[in-house]
Formats: sequence, C-alpha cells, structure tokens
Amino acid sequence: MEAYQSGRHFLQIPGPSNLPERIARAISRSTIDHRGPEFVQLTHSLLERLGTIFATENPIIVYPSSARGAWEAALVNTLSAGEHVLFCDSGHFATLWSNVANNLGLEVERLTGDWRLGVDPSAVEARLSEDREGRIKAVALVHNETSTGVVNEIAAIRQAIDNAKHGALFMVDVVSSVGSMPYLHDEWQVDVTVAGSQKGLMLPPGLGFTAISSKALAATQTAQLPRSYWDWNAVLSFNERGLFPYTPATNLLFGLDEALTMLFEEGLESVFSRHKRLASAARAAVRGWDLTLYCLNQAAYSPTLTGVLMPDGHDADAFRRTVLDRFNMSLGTGLGQVKGQLFRIGHLGDLNELMLAGTLSGVEMGLQLCDIPHRPGGITKALDYLVRH
Ligand code: PLP
Repeated sequence: MEAYQSGRHFLQIPGPSNLPERIARAISRSTIDHRGPEFVQLTHSLLERLGTIFATENPIIVYPSSARGAWEAALVNTLSAGEHVLFCDSGHFATLWSNVANNLGLEVERLTGDWRLGVDPSAVEARLSEDREGRIKAVALVHNETSTGVVNEIAAIRQAIDNAKHGALFMVDVVSSVGSMPYLHDEWQVDVTVAGSQKGLMLPPGLGFTAISSKALAATQTAQLPRSYWDWNAVLSFNERGLFPYTPATNLLFGLDEALTMLFEEGLESVFSRHKRLASAARAAVRGWDLTLYCLNQAAYSPTLTGVLMPDGHDADAFRRTVLDRFNMSLGTGLGQVKGQLFRIGHLGDLNELMLAGTLSGVEMGLQLCDIPHRPGGITKALDYLVRH
C-alpha cells in the first residue's frame, strides 16, 4: 500500500483543473428525476447562462461526453462523407481533431504552421482564396492550444475567411479557453464552438459542449454523415422542454450550475484578468529561471497554461516524475512532437496567488533536484510580479 501523502495534491496540469469544494458538494447532491419539474427548470437556467459564457444567443448543446465527443458532434452534424475540411495545425489537439475527421471519412487538409507561433491568418486567407470552387466546407482550429500554450486569434482568422470571401463553416475548439479568457461566439461569427467541462469551467471531466450558429444548424439539413447520439436537432427539440433525449449527467449539471454561479459571482472580466495576471507571474518565473518559453509570440501567450522547454539533454518527463514523487504535484507532459522536450504548468480554473506560488516553488525545487541548468530564484520574480500588479 502506498503511504499516505499529507496535504493536498497539486493538480497543475492544464486541465482537468482543481475541483472547487463548492462544485464537489453540488455534484454530491442526490440525483433527481431528469423528467421532473426541478430538472426542467435547471436545464432552462443552465442553457440561458451558458449563452453568456460563450457570448451567444444561439443554441448550446450539452452532452454527457468528453470534449472529443463534441469534436465529433461538430463534424457529423454539418458535413458529409468525402467533404474537405481545412485544419489549421497549431499543436497536438488540432492534430487529434483532424484525426477524428479523417476517421469519419472526411477529406482532411492540414494547413501546417509553426507550433511556437500559432496559426497565421494570412496563410488561411491565401489557402481559402485559392479554393475558387469552394471545395473546403469547413475551417477548424483550436483557440488555445493546450499542448503548447499558444493562443490563436479567432477574430483575425474570421477576418481571413471573410477577406477570401469564402463560405466555409468556421469551427473553433475552446476546450482550454472558454471561461478563462474572452471568447465571442456570435461576434466572431463562429459556426461551431466546441468545449469541455474540465478546464475553465472547473468541473470534473464528463461534459462536452457545442455552441452553434444558424448557418451550422441549417447545414444539418444537408449533412449526410451518420449521427444519432450526437444529433443536434434531437437534443434541441428536447431542450425546448427542458429535457434531453437520453439520461443526462444530472450530477455534473448540478456542478455546472454551481460553476456558473461562481463565475458570475466573481465576474467574467475579473476571472479573465485573474488568469492573465497569474499567467504573467508564471512566465516571470520561467524567465527568472532562464528557461525557455515554448511560445515565441508574445501576443499569443496563453492565460491558462505555460509550456516550458527543457534544456537540451534533459527529459521533461523524468523531471515531472520527480516533482510528482517528491512534492505530490502533477505537471502537464509534452504531447506529440514535443514529448519529453516540454512540460506544461496549468494555471487555470479555481486558482489564486498562493496556489500558483506553491506550484512554482515545486517546479523550482524540482529543477534543483534534477540538476537541470537554471538560474535559482525564478520564483521570486513571480512573487514580485504578483506584489506589483
Ligand atoms: N481540445 C483541447 C484544446 C484539449 O485541451 C483537450 C483535452 O485536453 C481536448 C480537446 C480533448 O478533450 P477530452 O479529453 O475531454 O476529450
């Protein structure tokens, strides 16, 4: 048997994020009848308030699924086999989403770019401008690449699509951004926004979301990919009556109710500026250690996570293991092409200064223990930043 480790585990991966006690308590309530009047009220109230989170007046679908389910829902509701989808490749999650499309029989084109800089809107515009026959039916990308800590400019990509006068559907994954940084589904004319519960929304994994536009809803009329569980129209007609076509994840919805209450109590603007400030402090520590930030584009620094490159010859996963064993803290691993080269510090969801300070202390002690070349005292740069800002 493992020995008891005193104190709490520091879950500093970029999602799932820390589960606040208030949400844990809400989830632990007794389950209610998902066809009864209390549940109907809950559904209506959730769907209305979710609109504020996604900044949309259009429908939002909540699935009992991981975010990957919502990826699939976005595709099967709007597209037909063999149709061409342009994935802006900005990291591991963009690649995984494009694999889902490939598995569904869509024709996937990857617009390759530099993972350390993010998607270049002019490259999107150039590619769409070439597509005179309108073969590309959808453009998909990830807003905040959780594998790298690079944020893509959704408004600029929207502008690129418009500049090319292209009619493709616009699909955006906001799994690690929504609820932590500004995101405007309607204003940026996104057709399908995909999200999950376990990051900025502070819930455990288990809910997937799609926010949709009227153009996306219209596309369901012609889309031929097989769909049943993911069918938006079935969910929407039940949702009108406060119901779902299946047994919903009732207790996670109790948690969502509490999460929304917490986000609105703090105020979305305050939530966003808290994330930005804590992220700046984390980067101050990384610079203080004289380590390298993975993101090379200052305008694209992520408010929810920081990707840190290891010095050559040092394995990020061995470092992460030491931090876990010695300090009971989980840091994010490098994914895909950056496996072993990078670790990620998650600073999203229910987090405050002292939690971040504890996290960065654990990183600094881990650097010492693993003999990783660094300048000691980076943590004080973060603390100074927090005192001054
Ligand atoms: N998209 C992004 C940006 C993610 O960070 C993740 C998971 O971390 C996913 C999609 C997949 O989410 P899930 O594991 O809930 O299916």
